[in-house]
Amino acid sequence: MAKTLKIALDGPSGSGKSTIAKKLSKELDILYLDTGAMYRATALKALKLNVDTFDEKGVSSFINDLNLEIKYENGSQQTYLDGENVSDKIREPQVSMAASNISSLKCVRLKMVEMQRKIASSTSCVLDGRDIGSYVLPDADYKFYITASVEVRAQRRFKELTEKGFNVDFEKLKQEIEQRDYNDSHRDFAPLVKAEDAIFIDTSNMDIDGVTNAVMSYIKK
Ligand code: C5P
Repeated sequence: MAKTLKIALDGPSGSGKSTIAKKLSKELDILYLDTGAMYRATALKALKLNVDTFDEKGVSSFINDLNLEIKYENGSQQTYLDGENVSDKIREPQVSMAASNISSLKCVRLKMVEMQRKIASSTSCVLDGRDIGSYVLPDADYKFYITASVEVRAQRRFKELTEKGFNVDFEKLKQEIEQRDYNDSHRDFAPLVKAEDAIFIDTSNMDIDGVTNAVMSYIKK
């Protein structure tokens, strides 16, 4: 089999990973997998079933039969839950918090990681998430840890959500980002960490093109 290229992009919420990953996938003509969408869809399922997102027993009762599909339509990732395209629904603010909660459960992570490794196994790809370089693809060819200050990340999310028509309170949004950072970096199993061999990039004072160029310059080396 021809050698495939694997790129891991990790970092906290709002660091700009997904925008950079999309640009990389276009520039390098490789698949992009937004792993956060998978945790979001799982959280949406729990919300629909009225299962507490911290309840490992309740969540494990549906996780193995979860009907979650990732499809690529016109070059962009679409997330389907029980046959319904939920790509927009999973971006709603209450799903973000529920995804952060449910992602701390080991049964959820094991299921998601299994699906992610399967998708990534036979193709060149860039994955963005929290544990890609440290856990999902430890042998990735390139690993980046992308971050920015909480203030800057909250401003980016605020802009993104208000542009989509959501009515959001900036301070509340910032607190939620801090809470999600805490959840992501303090869970027992596969927490958010910079893989030892990942390249660290602080994007607080950089624009997206600047970050993409910086990342590309490592890949071309
Ligand atoms: O990246 P995004 O904000 O869409 O991810 C939603 C949630 O899923 C995050 O808050 C994080 O807790 C979780 N997540 C994770 N591991 C990943 C990707 C996302 O725990 N690889």
